[in-house]
Amino acid sequence: MKKTSLFLFLLLITCSGAQDEIVDSQDSSDNIVKDTIVAEVTPTDATEDNESENTKSSDSCSAKTEVHKCHYIAVEYDKPQKDFSQEIVVATDVPQTVIDEYYEIHSMLNDIIGAYNRYVTVVTTTNEFSQPVFDKLKEIHWDQELNIIDGYLVGAGCLTGSGMWQVFPPDPYSLCIMDYEFIEYPHETREWGSPLLERRAVIYHGWAHEYFHRYQRAFHYELNMGNLDSVDTPVWWIEGAAIVFPNIWLNQSWQNITLFEGSSFDDVNVEGINLDEWYKNAKKAAQGQSHPDDRCNNYMFSKLDISYDTSGFCFIGIANAYLAYLTSYEVVWVDIPKDIYELSFEGSFKKHTNMTTDEFFDKFNSFMREGDPNDPPPDGFFPDKPISEVVNFFKYADA
Ligand SMILES: [Zn+2]
Repeated sequence: MKKTSLFLFLLLITCSGAQDEIVDSQDSSDNIVKDTIVAEVTPTDATEDNESENTKSSDSCSAKTEVHKCHYIAVEYDKPQKDFSQEIVVATDVPQTVIDEYYEIHSMLNDIIGAYNRYVTVVTTTNEFSQPVFDKLKEIHWDQELNIIDGYLVGAGCLTGSGMWQVFPPDPYSLCIMDYEFIEYPHETREWGSPLLERRAVIYHGWAHEYFHRYQRAFHYELNMGNLDSVDTPVWWIEGAAIVFPNIWLNQSWQNITLFEGSSFDDVNVEGINLDEWYKNAKKAAQGQSHPDDRCNNYMFSKLDISYDTSGFCFIGIANAYLAYLTSYEVVWVDIPKDIYELSFEGSFKKHTNMTTDEFFDKFNSFMREGDPNDPPPDGFFPDKPISEVVNFFKYADA
């Protein structure tokens, strides 16, 4: 994503209170975080072989001279693992509680989505204390300068990637580089004086969002999700499916989180986890009835919502919930991604929804303009049972 456009977008989100909040970014003018886009890492000469890495490839794969799907299959990038597989490495002055919270949240996510490997979160502070992070980054082929300037590691991103083009065969990692200041005070929460529970709810929501991207990438293998030159997977699905997931998950699960014991919903009500309010606010905007400076007033979903560079980022989460309402959450989160690699996104979408995306956009735009925006969502718009009871994320795991 172009840094300027994302920054503009973040500004707009911040100023307008738009309905779909993107929580990928450590919101700072000099540390705009790339989300899902790894294309900015220039592919290096793929024929530069690294003999020692070849043992990771299967026999048929070892003869390949270019990056291939088989390289990703060989390291089980596409398969949920039996055990906890995420990694977190922190600067030596980051409190243990951050690690404990990370394990707790990701264990909950694994129970629903599955445990995907090669997902590494690092938390930096200063150069003095961040050597373990630097060591880890070196190990996983991060090739940028290991230097923290004004609180941010050079090139930091979440989600970003490494090992996809820096070495051959690829040794791919999905990588979330955060700074500890962001974990304590995500987005503008320091300025707003937001209480701890709200700040942590934002982080947990963000962790779920980013991990969902790791799950989405599993189906793309060597294709570069988020780069339309590589695959047609559109931003409205990449980001939208990854927004509606943590909204529903946190809405259903916040009471099971240790830190939130004894709290009320209002204490943790961040992002779109109040699903009915999230829905109503989107409908109000679609009907031009949001507050006057809401840039999403009267926004029409269209082909512009395919690209990170042109999307208005209005209603992308709600659009995925609506698609699930027309089909099912399993279609949106499991069936569509399953066939992207073989059929393209458009082909998979058609196969599983019996619509083209253009037809879907028309239906969605009409739906958003129907009825009173203060009406609650129709029955079945959001799941009335736990996610794991309505969606089988392991459906194709053994295929
Ligand atoms: Zn995202």
